[in-house]
Amino acid sequence: MKTVTILGATGSVGTSTLDLVERDPEAFRVVALTANCDVTRLAAAAIRTRAQRAVVADEACLPALRDALAGSGIAATGGAAAVCEAAAMGADVTVAAIVGCAGLKPAMVAVEQGGTLALANKEALVSAGDVMKVAVARHGATLLPVDSEHSAIFQCLDARLADRVRRIILTASGGPFRDRTLEEMRAITPAQAVAHPNWSMGAKISVDSATMMNKGLEMIEAYHLFPVTPAQIEVVVHRQSVIHSMVEYVDGSTIAQLGTADMRTPIAGALAWPDRMVTPGERLDLVKIGRLDFEAPDPVRFPALALARAALEAGGARPAILNAANEVAVAAFLAGGIGFLEIAAIVADTLERYDPPAPDTLDAVLDIDRAARALAEERVKERVA
Ligand code: NDP
Repeated sequence: MKTVTILGATGSVGTSTLDLVERDPEAFRVVALTANCDVTRLAAAAIRTRAQRAVVADEACLPALRDALAGSGIAATGGAAAVCEAAAMGADVTVAAIVGCAGLKPAMVAVEQGGTLALANKEALVSAGDVMKVAVARHGATLLPVDSEHSAIFQCLDARLADRVRRIILTASGGPFRDRTLEEMRAITPAQAVAHPNWSMGAKISVDSATMMNKGLEMIEAYHLFPVTPAQIEVVVHRQSVIHSMVEYVDGSTIAQLGTADMRTPIAGALAWPDRMVTPGERLDLVKIGRLDFEAPDPVRFPALALARAALEAGGARPAILNAANEVAVAAFLAGGIGFLEIAAIVADTLERYDPPAPDTLDAVLDIDRAARALAEERVKERVA
């Protein structure tokens, strides 16, 4: 029996996690579930799983949550600090599935409890990778990847032979616009951008996949999770999303992990680790798939990749700035405020205008995040005007 807390329980990853946890009540007991403001979904999940506590990050939504949980015996709390308190409840496994840098502080609080952090919230590691890794070591926590690519690498990488790894190859579907021209990409709408060809995901990561910033963030995530240099991390476009990533060793052997495009597989990998658990869903039918294709990513149509690589190579504050500006630009695009191609332009512009020293504490990372957001917001306003 493992106790589980899900931060971001109402989202795409959160819902898939609940699906697994609820199928096996003998194996998992829910401690706390959090959301931003989706009270209906949160309260229903808390009641179904008999969670101890349900939390909304947006305090304005707390009265509705209290109403929805009245008489259930489940504690209802609200506000950003309440999310951190939920993360501090000491579950065996805390699933970090909040979207964006908003998930950083609660993820750090979970790390400080010394348990297992199953990390989907890549923005947290991108912004604060160095600080987080120090905290993981100091508190004896275990950091497990949930992102399908990193789950694949985690399974293919023999930790005893880390110095025998030649490179890791992150596969990318290429997103919904992999065959569009730059001219066509200029007129992309939010609805088109969130319609991913292979994966069903939240709006923000879907847009990141469309710009390929998602793969950029994943390169930085991989650098923090695995013992490799930036130069050892490569990206290959593989449109079928069957191979989730690969590790090449010095002897020329390349080990790949394959599966259907169902997040429940990598989530199960983290929930059950070091064991494995049964998951529902379609199994891989290689004959039906027939072929696997690979191509190099196009740096001209997808400039986000080069921006992320430069931030990775420079390190310090650069990844946090990249991430903050991207979050602002993606939100502006989803709100109809800027065009699709302006997302990467705003990120590039913010990186050009802001170059603070490397942060060595969580507060310093959060300060950089705030300052980069303010600069990116300025550019959004200028472009909208
Ligand atoms: P969703 O948008 O579907 O869900 C986000 C979750 O975070 C919701 O529970 C939401 O609550 C909550 N949330 C949003 N804003 C805040 C806030 N300010 N404070 C606290 N909670 C908040 O996202 P996804 O599930 O798609 O993605 C979650 C994370 O996992 C992202 O970092 C993403 O990159 C990563 N990831 C996702 C994958 C996927 O398949 N979806 C695959 C690999 C990684 P509410 O519902 O109330 O708004």
